[in-house]
Amino acid sequence: MNYKELADLIFPNAKEISYYEEKYPRRNLPEGAIVTRFAPSPTGFVHIGGLYQALAARISANKTGGVFFLRVEDTDQKREIENGITGIVNSLKDFDMEPDEGMISETESKGEYGPYRQSLRKDIYQAYAKYMIEQGKAYPCFATPEELEEIRAKQEAAKVRTGYYGVWAKYRNLSLEEMAEKIKAGVPYIVRFKSNGREDRKIKHKDVIKGNVDFPENDQDIVIIKSDGLPTYHFAHLVDDHLMGTTHVIRSDEWLSSVPLHLQLFQEAGFKAPKYAHIAPIMKNDNGNKRKLSKRKDPEAAVSYYKEIGVPSLAVKDYLLNIANSTFENWRRQNPNVSMNEFDFQLNKMSVSGALFDMTKLFDVSKIVVSRYTAQEVYDESMKWAEKYDNELVQMLSNKEYSLKVLGIERGNVKPRKDIAKWSDVKENIIYMYDDKFINTKIDYPYQTINEKQEINKILDLYIEKYYNENDDKQTWFDKIKELSGELGYAKEVKEFKANPDMYKAHVGDVSTVLRVALTGRTNTPDMYEIMQVLGKDSMIKRFEKARNC
Ligand code: GLU
Repeated sequence: MNYKELADLIFPNAKEISYYEEKYPRRNLPEGAIVTRFAPSPTGFVHIGGLYQALAARISANKTGGVFFLRVEDTDQKREIENGITGIVNSLKDFDMEPDEGMISETESKGEYGPYRQSLRKDIYQAYAKYMIEQGKAYPCFATPEELEEIRAKQEAAKVRTGYYGVWAKYRNLSLEEMAEKIKAGVPYIVRFKSNGREDRKIKHKDVIKGNVDFPENDQDIVIIKSDGLPTYHFAHLVDDHLMGTTHVIRSDEWLSSVPLHLQLFQEAGFKAPKYAHIAPIMKNDNGNKRKLSKRKDPEAAVSYYKEIGVPSLAVKDYLLNIANSTFENWRRQNPNVSMNEFDFQLNKMSVSGALFDMTKLFDVSKIVVSRYTAQEVYDESMKWAEKYDNELVQMLSNKEYSLKVLGIERGNVKPRKDIAKWSDVKENIIYMYDDKFINTKIDYPYQTINEKQEINKILDLYIEKYYNENDDKQTWFDKIKELSGELGYAKEVKEFKANPDMYKAHVGDVSTVLRVALTGRTNTPDMYEIMQVLGKDSMIKRFEKARNC
């Protein structure tokens, strides 16, 4: 019995690997092109850390004229949920990060290197497992769960490393005849890698992000094909990233410790290993403790959350790039309207330990992003969001012409207002501008310095009767508020008031506040001139009337 015969016995129907090597030729891409992937399990949940990795991958491929593909790793069938792929595909779409190749829906894919769903690649893995057996680099292992447990107990008693390796690898050294006999007798088995590594030797690895790291060699005879005939992650990684021509494996740093094994697998299979870039998890400051963003505890860990609260996807990506490369923030300031693909993104500048994720900072970035939108864009995006999440906002926005004016206040100028971080902020931001909402709502009128009812009424009456004219330009408008102030015994200038506080009741700013609060119910609003222009005289009269009767 030789290796070839053993391999044929185990995988009688598997093809020669030359078939696949020809079917998936090396890619013809420009020098330096990065071929990389996003390879999630279809659990239906995309973590913000996953999106962060995918973004680093997408942008690296864009920058180098490479390829970014989506491979679904569904060999652990226990973890799968229904429509888990759709959730991932849609998240990438929402963030304008569609893959060049790979899964594009629950069942469809595009590209020449598929299938891109591991459960559909069983034949391919078996062909490569067969090849490994033929080379004497893999073998059938007949250990039962009880035997594995016994080995572990002995290792613990002897205070040595646990695992299936060296002298502990009970079935590693069976003769080929013994192996064949057991298989023919129907004894269940799985396939293991036959490691030639030694724990007392070191390997050096240069990680794109982590830099130089040393590890002991791998000596574990890890499982490559499980009892269900599907591969383990490690073996699928070898086969897929080899055949798909991956140049850079960009993945979570929980896999860093598997690098010795992975390099060994590539070496033993005779394939060129990819480069590895291990990304540290996104961290959160939790009352002074730095911890990983948790799917269970933190709503912001789920990519779907941003859509629900209406943060524009561009803002989320801008923020993620801020934490990925510290030079991005400055670049963005200088290039506010340039595509992020123009940014010179560097994988090797990513944080070695976990980058800190800060929602307040993300909202600040988002406010800047939204401040660059036109009123029409804010309108369209808010409407799209509201149609899904907020009927009242839909109803407000259905008065389109008026809403565009409201959303246009302090927009499109050199210093646009930065008061919208997410579409769910819009309603609260503009609701007071709608008469049907404002007039019928109880308002507390937070008047400040000037508080007496009579005095307030006097200001409101005089203003609307004598001073307000909708055709005034801004300067004239403001001069008239000064005149009104003078007429009623208020200082026309704040500094005049400060110099002689006893001579005046208060100053022009206080008078403006009365007008502002009566019109809007708020002390802090955008430019009052623009507000009056948008409201128009009829609405102002109604609002003053309401204020009087309060
Ligand atoms: N399916 C693996 C995971 O979700 C992929 C890791 C990789 O990118 O290779 O962690």
